[in-house]
Amino acid sequence: MKRLNGRSAFITGGSRGIGKAIAKAFASEGAKVCVADLQQQALLELEQEFTQEGWDLFTFQMDVTDKHQVEQGFYKAVEEMGSLDILVNNAGITRDNLLFKMEDDDWDKVMDVHLKGTFYCSRAAQAYMVKQRFGRIINISSVSALGNRGQANYSTAKAGLQGLTKTLAIELGPYGITVNAIGPGFIETAMTQATADRLGMSFEELIAYKTKEIPVGRTGKPEDIAQAALFFADNASSFVNGQVLYVTGGPAV
Ligand code: NDP
Repeated sequence: MKRLNGRSAFITGGSRGIGKAIAKAFASEGAKVCVADLQQQALLELEQEFTQEGWDLFTFQMDVTDKHQVEQGFYKAVEEMGSLDILVNNAGITRDNLLFKMEDDDWDKVMDVHLKGTFYCSRAAQAYMVKQRFGRIINISSVSALGNRGQANYSTAKAGLQGLTKTLAIELGPYGITVNAIGPGFIETAMTQATADRLGMSFEELIAYKTKEIPVGRTGKPEDIAQAALFFADNASSFVNGQVLYVTGGPAV
């Protein structure tokens, strides 16, 4: 028996990186999956990959910061999948800089994608989840929520997501909906590749540097986060609500 048989999941920013690994893990456990992201080409490639595996996938372009696109997107997803059981708020961006060099736009864009995006998507999803008295909302926060040089905007947004997680856990728990967050450490994706580029290092150099700081002696893969997301999506975690699970290869400090 697959862990997510009969479930339907909506994943934002899921055409690559962590979101894609979550989409694949959910599909391999029997879920119907909907991925919404910005780039049409990346979505088409994802559809091809899923078709080859024989998995159900529904995709469309959606900017999580656009309220109307989000509301239409959730309506379309429910029409297509028949229900909405799991939401993963994964879409994310970085605009790193030290405070004195950070532009207003760097601040606003990061807040909009992580906080407003998660707010819009969670509000749209709960309307369906409350009616069916079941839901799982999984917010992708970050270890940067605990503070990280050069990420005043991102750390603030990711810490804000943890507050939102706990509040929604209290509000939605009575309807059978759990809301939890994952705080990934360094995960090998396009986002951390961009960090290497910004620091003038090769990706391999950055990975080697980060590996020295991580107790398990390696950096993370998107699949490491997908396993944590599976736990929160599963029926077995129904008494786990409002928690933040750091997936960092060691204690988050
Ligand atoms: P990626 O940059 O690889 O993927 C992020 C995806 O989100 C991209 O497909 C991106 O689209 C999409 N996206 C960005 N803005 C929007 C938007 N407004 N609406 C819809 N989709 C959008 O990042 P990761 O896979 O590394 O990160 C996934 C999540 O995990 C993010 O929330 C990130 O902050 C978090 N995280 C990542 C860590 C890491 O080490 N990689 C560590 C801790 C947390 P496009 O391709 O157009 O940019």
